[in-house]
Amino acid sequence: MMRLDSIVEGKKQIGIAGHVRPDGDCVGSTLAVYNYLRTYYPQADVRLYLEPIPNIFRFLHNADEIRNTYMDSVHFDLFIALDCGDTGRMGEAAKFFEEADHTLCIDHHISNQAFAEFNYIDPDASSTCELVFELIDEDRITKEIAECIYTGMVHDTGVFQYSCTSAKTMNIAGILMEKGIDYPKIVDETFYTKTYPQIRILGQALLNSRLYLDGACIVSVLTQEEMKSYGVLPKHLEGIVNQLRVTKGVQIAVFLYENIDHTFKASLRVNDAVNAAEIAVSFGGGGHIKAAGCTMEGTKESVVEQMVAAVAAQLAKGAEPKTAEPEAAEPKTAEPKDTEPKTAKPEAAEPKTAEPKDTEPKTAEPEAAEPKVTEPKGTESKTVEPEEGSKEELGKE
Ligand code: 5GP
Ligand code: MN
Repeated sequence: MMRLDSIVEGKKQIGIAGHVRPDGDCVGSTLAVYNYLRTYYPQADVRLYLEPIPNIFRFLHNADEIRNTYMDSVHFDLFIALDCGDTGRMGEAAKFFEEADHTLCIDHHISNQAFAEFNYIDPDASSTCELVFELIDEDRITKEIAECIYTGMVHDTGVFQYSCTSAKTMNIAGILMEKGIDYPKIVDETFYTKTYPQIRILGQALLNSRLYLDGACIVSVLTQEEMKSYGVLPKHLEGIVNQLRVTKGVQIAVFLYENIDHTFKASLRVNDAVNAAEIAVSFGGGGHIKAAGCTMEGTKESVVEQMVAAVAAQLAKGAEPKTAEPEAAEPKTAEPKDTEPKTAKPEAAEPKTAEPKDTEPKTAEPEAAEPKVTEPKGTESKTVEPEEGSKEELGKE
């Protein structure tokens, strides 16, 4: 069975990275490994690289030690990629990974092709944090490490709601709760609490939504202009797609926002009968069966049209069931070069009914007008600026 200790042993210069636009699982898993190494390998020089993280995660131990620049001229004995389905997802940190003597990948994306020397990949795991938990001794998990792992699990499972949540996930969460972490606070402050601009842009995104394919597909798009007028950055849009997904009758929710270079970032969430990862991969992205993403080129109208056509084709084809046979549930092992990804695809289920050609929005309303951001009369309204130090995030990843 793979152990983090056996791979780390004897390494002096260790690098860690997660994916661009870090989310809870990415921040939690990278900081969990970072804190573990700082605690038990004090003689090693350990460096963690991430793009600027959302403020809600700054309470995690040693979050202030995360490096946001990639200028270091060090050579790594070992470089660890977490929550990345491919090296491209590492962004600028990919160069460190590619030049390192040894590499380790810990991940749960179905699209992961096991790109490292050592790979610990399990698409059935709720989160990368769950896999980090499995790689280290329970007794060596401090309260600080437990907070990181728990935070990542909460975010990738939608507070233990999504179907990626397993009995194992819950057992691990229970063990972490016994480490003395303030779990209601983590859930409330990192998952549910939203700033006022976030609440307002959520409202705008919901108003912008349109139904397609007889109501099986809901799509909402936010433009740069709208994001600017509400004072929000891409990292503040987390959770919008999940709100779209709970629309009655919808099988797939697509949320798109415009990047500064006028490409569109798409987030896909599916309820049933659609493989989100396949759609995302067809546009050069990736992810999981039920949650995936990609970046698309074209005008607002054309990206919606392309996406709806791809969704229609998926619906017509039918869903790929989530897992292979139950016994295939063992994560990939530690053996170097044992790089068979777990991507067995069972027979497709019954196709659904949507017609590919039906790509017209269901609702009759005209195109959404420019958003009217009216402030309540007679009260001082606060203009909310994007968070300090993160203006670059208005751009692309
Ligand atoms: P989100 O929609 O929250 O950005 O991402 C959903 C899932 O898809 C996450 O697991 C994320 O890592 C993955 N994902 C999102 N965008 C991309 C992308 O552009 N490329 C790849 N390979 N994966 C993505
Ligand atoms: Mn993840």
